[in-house]
Amino acid sequence: MTQKTVQTCFNCERTDDEIPIVMWSFQQRPLTVCSACMPLLIHKWEQVVTTLNQMPTGETNE
Ligand SMILES: [Zn+2]
Repeated sequence: MTQKTVQTCFNCERTDDEIPIVMWSFQQRPLTVCSACMPLLIHKWEQVVTTLNQMPTGETNE
């Protein structure tokens, strides 16, 4: 059980090594947001939803 999930902000992709990160839940999926991007959830929520809908299920396969 050494699997480690690095939490990165969905928006700026910083990790909790750099900035405090909060785990939210949206549509039964985790939504990870750093403290700097939290205002987006409040003031730019429609933009955030659009971004989330363009994302796959949280994994990036490039
Ligand atoms: Zn962020």
